[in-house]
Amino acid sequence: MTQNLYKKDAYLKINTSKVIACINNVVILESSVFYPRGGGQPGDTGTLSWGNQVAKVIDTIINETGEIEHILSDESPIPIIGETLSAEIDWDRRYLHMRMHTALHLLGSVLQYGVTGGNISTSKSRLDFDMEEPVDKESVTHQLQKLVADNHAIHSKWISQKTLGEQPELIRTMSVKPPTTDQDIRLLEIEDVDLQPCGGTHLKSTGEVGQIRIGKVEKKGKRNRRVYIELID
Ligand SMILES: [Zn+2]
Repeated sequence: MTQNLYKKDAYLKINTSKVIACINNVVILESSVFYPRGGGQPGDTGTLSWGNQVAKVIDTIINETGEIEHILSDESPIPIIGETLSAEIDWDRRYLHMRMHTALHLLGSVLQYGVTGGNISTSKSRLDFDMEEPVDKESVTHQLQKLVADNHAIHSKWISQKTLGEQPELIRTMSVKPPTTDQDIRLLEIEDVDLQPCGGTHLKSTGEVGQIRIGKVEKKGKRNRRVYIELID
């Protein structure tokens, strides 16, 4: 299985790794800083470089066996198995995803309803809530901005599946279940704000989210409010 370096340190931008498999335009490495599509967060893009060759990674996914597949553009050169190369993500894009992803945790702590879906992009992101009440956009924006201004520390904790099974209340998201392939589950803790299982990439503190606001709120059925957030700067 590919060693997932982003899980331990989301701020890693580049690593050196050997190619262990290469099928058509899909490259699998021993270890990778690339985040594979999942939990509503897009897969990373970036480059694989060796010698004077540069291949463009247009998407990253994880396959059933837990290997990270780096998908190259059609015109990219293809490395050979055993090649040592440098893998570098498009950091500006990933960092926006980290700000958005962390902001969605804050949104989930302000609107304490079941979450039935979500999606992240660099320009806007959303969560779907199992709720009937209208959303007071100004009030929620104000609460989000306070959580950012208070700069809460964020870190990961690892617990066993058994412990999580004994504390099912930790799982707030109804559709986005934590991955069950790992022995231990990662809990994301935003100090004094939120604690829940999550396998995504997060910031070190809420202050890095920067200025955010609630965008559109859509009514998607009687018990579903789709709430968008936008980064202001
Ligand atoms: Zn998360």
